[in-house]
Amino acid sequence: MIDHTHDAHASSWVAGADDHADFPVQNLPLGVFSAGSGHPRIGTAIGDHVLDLTGIALHLPVACRGALGATTLNALFALPAADRWALRHAVFTLLTDSAMAQRIAPHLHHMADCTPHLPFRIGDYTDFYVGIHHATAIGKLFRPDQPLLPNYRHVPIGYHGRASSVRVSGTPVNRPHGQIMPAGAVAPVHGACQRLDCELELGLWIAGDNALGQTIPIAQARDRIGGLCLLNDWSARDIQAWEYQPLGPFLAKNFLTTVSPWVVTAEALAPFWLPQPPRAAGDPAPLDYLTDADDQAQGALSIDLAIMLSTPAMRAQGLGPHPLAQTNSRNAMYWTPAQIVCHHASGGCDLHAGDLLGTGTLSGPAQGSEGSLMEMSRGGRHPIVLPNGETRRFLEDGDELALIGHARRDGYRAIGFGPCIGRVEPAR
Ligand code: CA
Repeated sequence: MIDHTHDAHASSWVAGADDHADFPVQNLPLGVFSAGSGHPRIGTAIGDHVLDLTGIALHLPVACRGALGATTLNALFALPAADRWALRHAVFTLLTDSAMAQRIAPHLHHMADCTPHLPFRIGDYTDFYVGIHHATAIGKLFRPDQPLLPNYRHVPIGYHGRASSVRVSGTPVNRPHGQIMPAGAVAPVHGACQRLDCELELGLWIAGDNALGQTIPIAQARDRIGGLCLLNDWSARDIQAWEYQPLGPFLAKNFLTTVSPWVVTAEALAPFWLPQPPRAAGDPAPLDYLTDADDQAQGALSIDLAIMLSTPAMRAQGLGPHPLAQTNSRNAMYWTPAQIVCHHASGGCDLHAGDLLGTGTLSGPAQGSEGSLMEMSRGGRHPIVLPNGETRRFLEDGDELALIGHARRDGYRAIGFGPCIGRVEPAR
């Protein structure tokens, strides 16, 4: 699976691409963009540019050309993985062969002049809860004696989210209204959320299709992951606390979910799979249908993740974003991406190209690695002190969050996701 397109020494003729923190030629993420007032088109990010793949489809594999004429990636990710490998190879050749520069350069757009769009028409969105340090920290706030419920180490916990309110990075975050039970009150009120929070997650974009009733064996589950994004599962903690029993979060989560625009493909991520960390002594082994030797040996993804906060005062003072938390997906995930996909379909649920699966909040175990403010402020009890002296328990109007992520491994070029951004606007 690792080939010449992952060679750390590969170089692109596109100015600035080789030194780009997110989009060197080893990445080639797929997305949907429009340039100026143009229609949405499929493109790849290369350095600070977007290459219009729709516009150069005649230089690309025949099998992909029809799908490259669409305004979402659904058709492209419904194709066999071999077609997307062929597309990666063709795009890599066009961007590394300087003899092609004159022909291809007219199809490059400055990313700053482009509008990103949601990459898929999302049929379904499911959010899991596989970040064990997050589940433990949140559980401790409610159940100090038993932070993790008995099912946690046996079953990948998840719930069905809301696809209609998933938006691309840059979409404003309108503070939601909802039912809230104030502390000490005997009746709820309806009002603006006072405990607005983020959740740092990875999103898995599904490739291919399985029919209703057709399960996905664990050994084949990774092939159904077409690519990844960063995902912010905005959460209204005060609404959540009142409404979540007995069926789980509802309005606390469905007012907005933000994803990064570029799909970092399974092909690009080939060098970054590592062994799944061993479970703690005394933890149960996964049941057979979730167990595969290859998945345990090389089924964990190592992505460095961070939450950057910029407040209105910081911007007025000319201060850059402050890293609220830094973590790594492999250290956080109790279940592998393949186990998530396998489990989702194990009862017969059909998954389709463009479906979105969130991992759940990916917190580390230590201070400074928490994937939500709820954890950082320990339920709002301990304010987070920012470098300019401001404090936060939860997000305030005007706060802008950027999730960032990079895959790194010795001997390979680091590749990134590009930011997943949202700025909080006052309740309407
Ligand atoms: Ca979540």
